[in-house]
Amino acid sequence: MPAPILIRDAAWAVVWDASARGHAYARGMDVLLEGGRVAAIARHDPDAPVPPGAEVVDGRRLMVMPGLVNIHTHPTSALPARGVREDHGVPEQQMTGLFERLQAFRIDQAGQAAGMRLAYAEMMSAGVTSVVDLSQPFPDWLGIMRDSGLRVWAGPGFADAHWGMAAPQTVTWMWNRENGRTQFEAAKAVMKEAEADPSGRLHGIVFPAQIDTVDEEMLREAAAHAGESGRPFTTHIAQAVVEVREMIRRHGTTPIQWAAAIGLLGPRSILGHAIFVDEHSSIGWHTARDIGLVAEHGATVAHCPTPFALYGEHLQHFGKYRARGVNMGFGTDCAPHNLIEEMRLAVILARGVARDVAAADTGSVFHAATAGGADALGRPDLGRLAKGAAADVVLVDLAHPLMSPPRDPLRALLFHAADRAVKRVIVGGETVFADGRPTRLDVAEAAGILAEAQARMLRDAKGRDYRGRSGDEICPVALPMQ
Ligand SMILES: [Zn+2]
Repeated sequence: MPAPILIRDAAWAVVWDASARGHAYARGMDVLLEGGRVAAIARHDPDAPVPPGAEVVDGRRLMVMPGLVNIHTHPTSALPARGVREDHGVPEQQMTGLFERLQAFRIDQAGQAAGMRLAYAEMMSAGVTSVVDLSQPFPDWLGIMRDSGLRVWAGPGFADAHWGMAAPQTVTWMWNRENGRTQFEAAKAVMKEAEADPSGRLHGIVFPAQIDTVDEEMLREAAAHAGESGRPFTTHIAQAVVEVREMIRRHGTTPIQWAAAIGLLGPRSILGHAIFVDEHSSIGWHTARDIGLVAEHGATVAHCPTPFALYGEHLQHFGKYRARGVNMGFGTDCAPHNLIEEMRLAVILARGVARDVAAADTGSVFHAATAGGADALGRPDLGRLAKGAAADVVLVDLAHPLMSPPRDPLRALLFHAADRAVKRVIVGGETVFADGRPTRLDVAEAAGILAEAQARMLRDAKGRDYRGRSGDEICPVALPMQ
């Protein structure tokens, strides 16, 4: 057990108001972290005793807030695409370049591991304490999670089909159900191993990879398995126009209506990303039921604005989903893994789509990035600063110039300073990130390994791409090379 930490006289704290079921500001607070929990939280008392062995932190220039909950990420595959995917899209597929890149680019295990280390470090730097890691498992996957000190839900992906492309306007589904079943069994074993970790910080999440790549039988089994094992459930759904069209072709209905019909939606279901619902302007299906169905079933949407905004597509829109009763949570999906910047972008995009300043605001996106995600994971002790909650806490530097003046520190953090003002990140009472670097996770070699793995990935694209292009031909660099 780490030593107790007493944050004394914090200038600002974001505390949980249980009666209002929401966050509130409090000033001049003492916060004691002990035994992995928030042991006490009260107005500053200069005469309060300091527990023996406690580290005392002067809070007079700090904001204390709950750690952020990132409910949708791909840390092992995202960073190899840095400098590759940002300007890439396929117009014939409603801009998404996902299918083309997934076919052409394959990252090896060295690259996955190095990318994962850097992605975790980036998440911590932006105040994340809980992560849903959706990946193809590889040997060191759980080891890196354990080293990081983060609270992680390991989601080993499984699927019956993979996508293939022969031309820009086509995607074909290549089915191999035996392989899918093997992956599902392997995923169960990996989740079990995570849950047996002595740290108590690793968990499992049942993750059939995409609604269109897993057959009905295995989707039903996956949902049943989640229910029986008490694990949350997640899948990609309504994430691409191509997918929605294919699901309508197969079932005569939208992926979300089909998912509801086969029992995939529930209070522990996280939908990544539920953007292309029936009434979305890129879909224009004749019903307007999808958002309501998600809400009725108590499912959560993992909102990840950046990767879709890169294609020019947006959730329509954060405020509408909330108003219809959908529990919203946040993910970073691909790189950048900066959840604070995702909150900012979510506000701006919602207002742009809705042409309404009330479509999203600081308080509503912060709720989603904390309590919203924690609720979806079935963890009411996360994403909140309250007595008895997990000691997952972020200390924000109010003395940072971009936090000045600290009239409203959450707004300053979301719209101005972002990760630059994150001073220290604590998970279960243990410091995992301080003064710009992870305290436990080794990232020293990661950048070099990742660069080499990315170079191999780009070179080998020639043998995978449907036109035989190299990675540099598919995704040229931003400026001509002299
Ligand atoms: Zn995703």
